[in-house]
Amino acid sequence: MPKMTVKDVEVKDRRVLVRVDFNVPLDEKTGEITDDNRIRAALPTIQYLTRQRAKVILMSHLGRPKGKVVEDLRLGIVARRLSEVLGQPVTVAPDCVGSDVENMVATMKAGDVLMLENLRFHVEEETGDASFAKALARLGNVYVNDAFGTAHRAHASVSVIAQYLPAAAGFLMEKEVENLGRILENPAQPFAALLGGAKISDKVSMLENIMDKVDYVMVGGGMAATFLQARSYEVGQSLIETDMVETAKRLMELAQKEKVNLMLPVDVVVADEVSNEAQVEIIPVENIPKEKRIVDMGPQTISNFSRALRRCRTIFWNGPMGIFEIPRFARGTQELAKLLAGLEAMTVIGGGSTAEAVSDLGLAGKMTFVSTGGGASLEFLSGDKLPGVEALPDRKWEREID
Ligand code: ADP
Ligand code: MG
Repeated sequence: MPKMTVKDVEVKDRRVLVRVDFNVPLDEKTGEITDDNRIRAALPTIQYLTRQRAKVILMSHLGRPKGKVVEDLRLGIVARRLSEVLGQPVTVAPDCVGSDVENMVATMKAGDVLMLENLRFHVEEETGDASFAKALARLGNVYVNDAFGTAHRAHASVSVIAQYLPAAAGFLMEKEVENLGRILENPAQPFAALLGGAKISDKVSMLENIMDKVDYVMVGGGMAATFLQARSYEVGQSLIETDMVETAKRLMELAQKEKVNLMLPVDVVVADEVSNEAQVEIIPVENIPKEKRIVDMGPQTISNFSRALRRCRTIFWNGPMGIFEIPRFARGTQELAKLLAGLEAMTVIGGGSTAEAVSDLGLAGKMTFVSTGGGASLEFLSGDKLPGVEALPDRKWEREID
């Protein structure tokens, strides 16, 4: 990676301020962490730093407290889980800035890990306030950004702070940028984008950016209904983005111009309601009844997509192929996940739900790379510069450490 990484900076006995993305999903009722992948994904950087005898100060946001203290969004629960997987104590600070925190930091020993309180308890985090960034910077001698999932935000702890400390990327950030970068720079061909999920609007600029690089675009999930509508099929009660029908038409024209094979479902699973008790049937896309909705792709579509995917050497997958949260509607998602897991191709998974589906099937380790960034990975593949990455100094430019 052209940016400075944690290996390029002296960290021994230094206070290393690490921005991580520990914005983990919490159970609505119990408040327990339902998926700790984001915590585990940051372990290589944290373990490297403790082994190098750095003083590790972690900072993260959790949820959307919108500038106020929200008791349920304190990072204590995250610190406890981190402590378990790390196998060492993780102290939690009462806040993320201020003299109490500065005093705590001053007593840290080499190899200690301290977790600052939720950054978003301060409104200045999201507004990218310079004095808040400076107050954070005072806590460390070095800044490391390992929060790829937040790298598309120009927040105080993500980009602004990099002006005030020697800065570098963590290992997760490095891996994300390298893997997603390979997709944009020199993907082995044939290259397929397998797209599903709820909405087209999230994915338009990514699709536009990769259209001249891909050989196939395969559309499933809720998105497919808008494309089918654009081709004048009846889609019944399916999830539709009415204002995206024209965009879908434009994308299909663009695909044709770029000689991209844009594949849509030929058959679908429709249901009368979104529940496990629903009446379901498998039908060709020509025959969708007015009172039904698309909930998954059909077997012929799974087989069409599979045949094309087997030929590919690079596959980027974003968005589940159906309402996979309901087991009966998870077949398309599961079948394609299994197929990808068995391929030699470079397989890159982006998007929170897609990553969750793949990891629930125990297949995450069989993919080339599962991105921890939903929005960030889409923005990256849209060709946008991510503030959190841009703010890091280039490798050749080595600053003196204070
Ligand atoms: P990701 O988080 O992987 O980026 P999205 O956020 O784009 O994916 O979409 C995930 C959501 O899309 C899931 O909650 C899933 O239920 C929904 N979805 C998939 N297929 C359909 C469909 N046919 N109709 C409605 N929603 C769908
Ligand atoms: Mg999502």
